[in-house]
Amino acid sequence: MFETLSKAPQDKIFALMAEIAADDRPGKIDLGIGVYKDDDGNTPIMTAVKKAEERIVSTSKTKTYIGVAGNKGFARAMVDLALDGAVPDDRVRAAQAPGGTGALWVLLTLLKRANPDATVWISDPSWPNHRPMAEQAGFKVEAYPYFDPETGKVRFDDMLAKLDSLGKSDIVLLHGCCHNPTGANLDHDQWHKVIASLKRTGAFPLVDMAYQGFGDGLDEDAYGLRALAAEIDEFVCATSCSKNFGIYRERVGCAIVVGKDAAQADIANSQMLNVIRGAYSQPPDHGAEIVRIILEDADLRAEWKAELEAMRNRMIANRKALADAIRSRSNSTDFDFVAEHRGMFSLLGLKVETVDHLKAENAVYMLDDSRINIAGLADERIQRLADAIVGATR
Ligand code: PMP
Repeated sequence: MFETLSKAPQDKIFALMAEIAADDRPGKIDLGIGVYKDDDGNTPIMTAVKKAEERIVSTSKTKTYIGVAGNKGFARAMVDLALDGAVPDDRVRAAQAPGGTGALWVLLTLLKRANPDATVWISDPSWPNHRPMAEQAGFKVEAYPYFDPETGKVRFDDMLAKLDSLGKSDIVLLHGCCHNPTGANLDHDQWHKVIASLKRTGAFPLVDMAYQGFGDGLDEDAYGLRALAAEIDEFVCATSCSKNFGIYRERVGCAIVVGKDAAQADIANSQMLNVIRGAYSQPPDHGAEIVRIILEDADLRAEWKAELEAMRNRMIANRKALADAIRSRSNSTDFDFVAEHRGMFSLLGLKVETVDHLKAENAVYMLDDSRINIAGLADERIQRLADAIVGATR
């Protein structure tokens, strides 16, 4: 059977993790995998999550099947968190999915049924799983211009020109906020221009919202999605609770579908549930129930929001500290963009040779494309990282 196959490419992030683990130099700096880390390099369980879990353990009475759409209260709360009423309820349907990745997979599979000949457009660059996922769903995949490594900013005119050239057989994958891997995001005005373009061309929006609350705040991070929802009557959105609830391994996400009217939403929903039923039948409940409890309980919700806000502010402080440290050493503003970026990542725009040099000489580890995880830093490491970057790019 397997003689027909050759080895699949290794996932770069997991390969980097193995490389870091094998390095026994003291003081190595790990800017690789995309998980939030505190000053000590740990990814703790949020206190509200712990409390919700305790509640589940002490009060739940059954582990029977929950249904193809998963935890309904969770899905309702996730729709509110993302859309906050931007679309009337009768046009929105949502299903719990195994992580943001699972939600993307459900939605891509649904879109393939709806528009089999479409092309999926992803940003250049994008989260490394976007292309393989869309290809695996059977789509042709193309990239629209997005990031300029010279300036650290969005190549917005080029992006818009490309979007303007698309049509009804195109699906445009947009990052809702906190762009991965670049950290460069659309401002309000740019969102409105993108939305006007999609409206004009009929290209279909698929929004990936994996970091709500990690950028400028829970509502601000949903600005683009809600603005789009107000203008465009059909779209889909994949959300994730991995980062903002810190429940990565529980695999919690939500697939949201918005139809032109209630009848269209029902049809799309029935197809979505059919996709899920034929793949994994139903999602696991534990993580979704944690999120439901937190979002529905005023006290736990406030506690979660405060902790999320502290994580967000720490990432912004790290950004500013790194940009300041590099500026004071190099006397140049070349890396000031790091402070303007939002979310967990920044793409530094370094050459692969420089990335390799930092690894070999300074035990500083980042992805080959020079994406760094800003949450992996703390004060002393920021100063050493700035030394290393300035030394390597002089
Ligand atoms: N989309 C983007 C852009 C991401 O960065 C991630 C997480 N790395 C995801 C989706 C999916 O996250 P998960 O499946 O862990 O919820």
